[in-house]
Amino acid sequence: PFNLTALFKDVIFQMKTKTKDKHMKIRFHFDQDLLMIGDKNRLKQVLINLLDNAIKYSLEETTIIIEIEENEQNVKFHIRDEGVGIDPSELPSVTKMFYQVDANQSGTGLGLAICQKIIELHQGSLHIESKKNEGTTVTVSLPKK
Ligand code: ATP
Ligand code: MG
Repeated sequence: PFNLTALFKDVIFQMKTKTKDKHMKIRFHFDQDLLMIGDKNRLKQVLINLLDNAIKYSLEETTIIIEIEENEQNVKFHIRDEGVGIDPSELPSVTKMFYQVDANQSGTGLGLAICQKIIELHQGSLHIESKKNEGTTVTVSLPKK
């Protein structure tokens, strides 16, 4: 088993230069150990991809809020940004391979497709809620085992 709380802290620390460059803050106040069984390195990749998006598609001086809920069997976390948001018409496509809302932007359009696949392999689910020009919340549910 690994500690998901510690993994979040690692990744947040790893993103420090990116957040600093945009004068952004990541709020993460969860302090309990959260032990789960799964592919730690792949789930770390999920956190990196989701936080990379939250930073990349946000304006300067905004805040990203991470919240975690858990029960006996499952853990659910939300990553909420105050960024550009996604139009409802684009929402179903963003987890598809190579899909980018703006074809001129940097990246490859693979981040969310990879997240989706890794989460699926853990019998979990990924859900995105977004409002254009207001922000996006990505919710991930995972069984602890
Ligand atoms: P990559 O992650 O491969 O470097 P990418 O970020 O473009 O490239 P995805 O992470 O798969 O690819 O995201 C797909 C598209 O969904 C993005 O190009 C962007 O348009 C949109 N998107 C993803 N996350 C957010 C977000 N938090 N806020 C607004 N738009 C987002
Ligand atoms: Mg991405």
